[in-house]
Amino acid sequence: MDAPCLRVPHPGPRTRQYLERVRRTESAAGLTFGLSAETVVMERASGAAIEDVDGNVFLDFTAGFGSLNAGHCHPKVVEAVQAQAARGHQAMSLGADVRLRLMEKVLSLIPGPSEKRIVLGASGSEAAEAAVKMARRATGRSDVVAFEGAFHGRTQGALALMGRKGQRAGLPSFQTGIHHVPYPYPYRSPFGRDEAACLEGTLRYIDEFLKNPASGWGEVAAIIIEPVQGNGGMIPAPLGFLRGLRGICDRHGVLLIVDEVMSGFCRTGKMFSYLHEEGVEPDILVLGKSISGGLPLSACVAKKEISEACGPGTESSTYAGNLVACASGLASIEVYEEEGLADRAAEMGGYFVRRLGELAERHAVVGEVRGRGLMVAAELVSDRASREPLPAAKAASAAALERGFLLYPGGHYGNVLAFLPPLIIGEGHVDKAVEVLDEVLLAVPGMK
Ligand code: PLP
Repeated sequence: MDAPCLRVPHPGPRTRQYLERVRRTESAAGLTFGLSAETVVMERASGAAIEDVDGNVFLDFTAGFGSLNAGHCHPKVVEAVQAQAARGHQAMSLGADVRLRLMEKVLSLIPGPSEKRIVLGASGSEAAEAAVKMARRATGRSDVVAFEGAFHGRTQGALALMGRKGQRAGLPSFQTGIHHVPYPYPYRSPFGRDEAACLEGTLRYIDEFLKNPASGWGEVAAIIIEPVQGNGGMIPAPLGFLRGLRGICDRHGVLLIVDEVMSGFCRTGKMFSYLHEEGVEPDILVLGKSISGGLPLSACVAKKEISEACGPGTESSTYAGNLVACASGLASIEVYEEEGLADRAAEMGGYFVRRLGELAERHAVVGEVRGRGLMVAAELVSDRASREPLPAAKAASAAALERGFLLYPGGHYGNVLAFLPPLIIGEGHVDKAVEVLDEVLLAVPGMK
């Protein structure tokens, strides 16, 4: 499918009918309208293209919010899913070869030296919660440090780690002992605008709070971090930060939980994004999304001694390790490796950031362009000098949809155009995206 290719103006007549029905049916709490009030209604999809019910074809730079690193409906994945669906779907509390092979494969991707154990889940939120529970059991401590802007899921436990007000509004506090600290975000760091000052200041702050008996923190079990903050606006932690954090954790007996739900499986140019730094071994790794290439599956991978602190059956759920999802995962990981998608992500990410840099020269609202592999973003500001955020990402996303292009509106202030294309894209896809964005940046009110 050639994308974008609009046969009728979006939203077309069938889409409008659907939208009327869905507004009468689905709670507004759902995510159907995450990109725009006039969302795309998918008929079928392939690679980086989505055809809607009106025959319009959209170029997809969201890839299921990072769950489709091999693209929509990769033939190998489809074949594996179809074959497994005919053989068996569910094996709760039973063994199954496909699940074991998936678990062995995932563990084989994670370098040592420590021995690890894996527990499967059905969503990233579930795996993030399992990680925190395991860390608390293993250390006998209660507190957890998370970062401003963090996103680890919407379930009650994971929500406590969330940095965003939107999803927390109207709810009482869920767990005590969760402390948020500044994310190493050089563009908006309280510790200074250059990477080194941001990195050192953030580490010093965390170290000081862990050390100081009067900091207000209790005994800290773990620090949980996204190596590239995704929902927060595709913010790569400066290289060296994770190594510094690892050292702090070691000094204070705190476990390091690395959440790679969005950044994992080749997305940033390595199998996992923490591997951009030498000598960082997480105590617990949280995986989801592209672990399965589009079916519900997640994993919490813990050092063996941490996992042994958890009794039988204390984690998992009915659909954890669903066999069709495991088959999809095995096939997807094979595709990532066979098609060299980590290298492709690095190469295309570099090209995309360069092309966005050209856009930034023409559009003063683009304050910063950044990325690691194909976690890429353009941050919007109303004034480059003061870096005042311009919260126009959702409006830009709607304007992009009208032009046949899906982007991910995000950022701490709703001011980041974020991009998570499938890793199979080529330069032609990026060029089309940049062409649309060039128009979008002129079309949105408030942009000059
Ligand atoms: N962790 C990270 C880093 C995420 O980006 C997300 C979802 O976007 C989650 C956890 C939660 O995953 P799920 O939506 O599958 O529960």
